[in-house]
Amino acid sequence: MTSIEVQSPATGEVIAQVPDLGADEVRALVERARQVQPGWERLGFDGRARLMLRAQKWLLDHRERVIETIVAETGKTYEDAQIAEVAYGAHAFGFWAKQAPRYLADEKVSSAQLFVKGKKLLVRWRPLGVIGVIGPWNYPLTNSFGDCIPALMAGNAVILKPSEVTPLTSMLMAECLRECGFPEGVYQVATGRGETGRALVDLVDMVMFTGSTATGRKIAVQAAERLIPCALELGGKDPMIVLRDADLERAANAAVYYSMQNSGQTCISIERAYVEAPVYDEFVAKVTAKVAALRQGPGGVPGTADVGAMTFPPQLELIEEQLADAVAKGATVIAGGHRREGAGLFFEPTVLVDVDHTMDAMTQETFGPTLPIMKVADEEEAIRLANDSIYGLGGSVFTKDLDHGEAVARRIHSGAVCVNDAMVNYTALELPMGGAKQSGLGARHGAGGIRKFCEAQTIVVSRNFPKRDLHMFPNTAANTRRIGKLLQLLHGRGKRR
Ligand code: NDP
Repeated sequence: MTSIEVQSPATGEVIAQVPDLGADEVRALVERARQVQPGWERLGFDGRARLMLRAQKWLLDHRERVIETIVAETGKTYEDAQIAEVAYGAHAFGFWAKQAPRYLADEKVSSAQLFVKGKKLLVRWRPLGVIGVIGPWNYPLTNSFGDCIPALMAGNAVILKPSEVTPLTSMLMAECLRECGFPEGVYQVATGRGETGRALVDLVDMVMFTGSTATGRKIAVQAAERLIPCALELGGKDPMIVLRDADLERAANAAVYYSMQNSGQTCISIERAYVEAPVYDEFVAKVTAKVAALRQGPGGVPGTADVGAMTFPPQLELIEEQLADAVAKGATVIAGGHRREGAGLFFEPTVLVDVDHTMDAMTQETFGPTLPIMKVADEEEAIRLANDSIYGLGGSVFTKDLDHGEAVARRIHSGAVCVNDAMVNYTALELPMGGAKQSGLGARHGAGGIRKFCEAQTIVVSRNFPKRDLHMFPNTAANTRRIGKLLQLLHGRGKRR
């Protein structure tokens, strides 16, 4: 079996070797998962929740080791790993342990249909079996392992295929679950490259994928061929709208934080800003001053860096290409604009102005520490440009008029919009989080975020047994009259409406 070298993006050091699993090895993992899944399902919500709460404690007890692992393989800062990964994971264990039984409880349904009068109608949620989770490199705990938690709580076995660039956190979580007493085989990690992911999609009962729109589309096609469900959380180009009555200090702080945290490598980061003309100059001045104050570097030691490394080497070239394209079409770089010399994959926090929608930087996902800011005449232009995108993951509106902010939010075609904030919707696991347009299919979080790992089964119980039922041969004139009366009744109701 060949292996994959894992490098630290912040230092360039090789920190581990992991196996590159082929199709046969993936098949063996899936077979193992199928053997253990029924026992795991039988354990019930209480049994699974007990183990989840143990895992939550393990994660908190070992948080420094987990942060160290995430920082080592992604190059992000200590704080990015702490706030957006460990805090997420710790909350998610508790959330799904508590909410899974509620979201997946049997539902008694009453029906106005006379044909089922007197019968018991029930919907129950049954785990699909073996779930394949395919994760990206930007959040190895939150966006990869995070989806395994509800999938497991629903009673499935899970195989996680992490990005080849960041496999170590997923492997550490395997150690966590083992030490907490999860049955062997209910959570397994398939390290490898894209081919390993493809092999997994060929064998599992459902796929949860997070990553690029291009790969998401391939997975959707492969899933369609097998007629298995898939949920996709894909790219974004989240717009920020700053209206003339906004609190500019708050808007500028949000613009800088949410475009630069995690080096901009977040699907719901602010990727472009539209600012109404009267406040444009002041907003740009505030953003520029705040960006100039950012500290960049290896951020493993708490409190020492604001912006860490880029995780994935090709991202640096992509940012350079987008900047060159923008500048060639008339954009001005007013901060940053270059990769940093020396060890590690660092790109300077960058601000662009004089931008428009002819430029890739305004229309294609960048996934880097860049913020293009565009002056707009008014709110209508801002909304039109915000919606001028193939993506629709998130968005934000800044205004002191909260009702108006909400009204603008409703006009933005994306899965989530925050008013006077950005991205925080992701932390509330009660809220569905999914993309509109080419940003995805389905959602994580909320009731749908666990029901997608299940199939709905309807059960109808007939409790009385009349000698003559409407659904019974022979067809008789009496039956015809009874059904005729029913149709007459419906017809009368229709006319009254
Ligand atoms: P990909 O979408 O290519 O990869 C995501 C995951 O899918 C990885 O685990 C990858 O494995 C795996 N994979 C790749 N090809 C296949 C396949 N044919 N079948 C099954 N699994 C496959 O993302 P990249 O890592 O290449 O990033 C490219 C771009 O995607 C970024 O520039 C960014 O724009 C976007 N992105 C969006 C994310 C989000 O959160 N929405 C997260 C990450 C990236 P491997 O890594 O081993 O190739």
